[in-house]
Amino acid sequence: MIRVICSSNQIIYYAYHLVKAFYPDREVTSEVNPCQKTPVRLEGEVVLDRVDGERSLYETLRNLTGQDLPWGMLTGVRPTKLASGWLREHPEVQQQSGMEEFSEWFGRERFVSREKAELAYRIAWKERELSPADFRSRKYLPGWSLYIGIPFCPSICSYCSFSSGAIGKYRDRVDPYLDALFNEMRQKKEGFGIPSTVYIGGGTPTSLETQQLKRLLDEADSVFGIAEGLACGVIREYTVEAGRPDSITRDKLEILRQHGVTRISINPQSMQPKTLQAIGRSHSVEQVREAFRMAREMGFDNINMDLIMGLPGETNEDVRDTLRQIREMGPDSLTVHSLAIKRSSAMGIAKKLSRREESGQPADLQEGDGPSDISRMIRDAYDCAGEMGMEPYYLYRQKSIAGNFENIGYARPGKEGLYNILIIEELQSIIGCGAGSSTKIVSEEEIPNPARNGQMTHMIRSENVKNIEEYILRFGG
Ligand code: SF4
Repeated sequence: MIRVICSSNQIIYYAYHLVKAFYPDREVTSEVNPCQKTPVRLEGEVVLDRVDGERSLYETLRNLTGQDLPWGMLTGVRPTKLASGWLREHPEVQQQSGMEEFSEWFGRERFVSREKAELAYRIAWKERELSPADFRSRKYLPGWSLYIGIPFCPSICSYCSFSSGAIGKYRDRVDPYLDALFNEMRQKKEGFGIPSTVYIGGGTPTSLETQQLKRLLDEADSVFGIAEGLACGVIREYTVEAGRPDSITRDKLEILRQHGVTRISINPQSMQPKTLQAIGRSHSVEQVREAFRMAREMGFDNINMDLIMGLPGETNEDVRDTLRQIREMGPDSLTVHSLAIKRSSAMGIAKKLSRREESGQPADLQEGDGPSDISRMIRDAYDCAGEMGMEPYYLYRQKSIAGNFENIGYARPGKEGLYNILIIEELQSIIGCGAGSSTKIVSEEEIPNPARNGQMTHMIRSENVKNIEEYILRFGG
């Protein structure tokens, strides 16, 4: 175990996550000791008596481990925001010639590797291209986007930390949930016009029965004027995360078509049957192909697929085979995640128990290959996306992500998910409805934050309860 002891709350979050990034397999705890003279100290398996600040902590750990982290001292989830901010501060910079200057700056200031700096730079330019014209000069955009969360799935994946419920278990709670959701949608609508983008996610929205899915889309339309917004071009994108192939039927896809949905996801995560079984996904590889074929046949021309690198027991060869199968299907965009094991997921709990018992992990919950192999997988996915004519257009990182890597969204030109850019860059207010959803209000002008005694801020964030029963109690009736 490694104990991180900080003199104040200000640095503790950063110090904890940086130590965890250097020592991903160790248990790390953190605490504040206001009497401590030095900002950070480490005790336990790693001892450091005195570290003066964030840069010094990174440099000390780097020297100690002989290891550079690809994202350097950055522990945040949105490294591309820094690249976008840099571009705003350097309006004179040309796309090609600015890369060298930016990479040099990112490496010097934050120790970010050249490869990651160039990736962040390319994505920041791509985001500029795709966002409304005034993005160049503005940090926040007018208008707002809508998120609706459906917290049910056909079965629960072992790495899931979204508090989603297995639909079989919650069958009789779905209608009360929808009633509560509709109440919340009506309440939140007050004061807002038509959204810029709509994203229905979860969970798996298509795990609803066909009639329930129709009720949901009808209600969203009537409350937020979606049909009108799509017709007049105010709504630029309408996504429904179909997600799990075992929830997709022709009837449900037909409902999505009738409501003007412009973009869907069909997410295999892997095309290896043994992996799907090991992670608790109750669908087959054939179901992925069938759902994709059906959606194409029905005219969906913007289909995203999600993959995860570093899944239990997967080899580089397995991933290459998955990528080959994805290429054969030919989705319009591809989101490549690196496995993140949150403490609340089944895998996270198993990992913690196994560490305590010092007896190794159960065979079906072992993590995948080591970071160096995941790095190879990520490169293969990058190459595969390129071969499909896609470019990276958004990127984010998660805590507990395998090997300190990142998640990257790739798309063919014109098939990018605008909502993804808006939420990752925190460019526009997002109103979230549903259990576990969060609402973020962003503003060019400073606004008082009620959660922080009226302190002035550019962004106010609030979160809904995650528990489905509590959510129904709060918004139902
Ligand atoms: S499909 Fe997504 S939300 Fe549903 S259980 Fe799996 S990881 Fe969780």
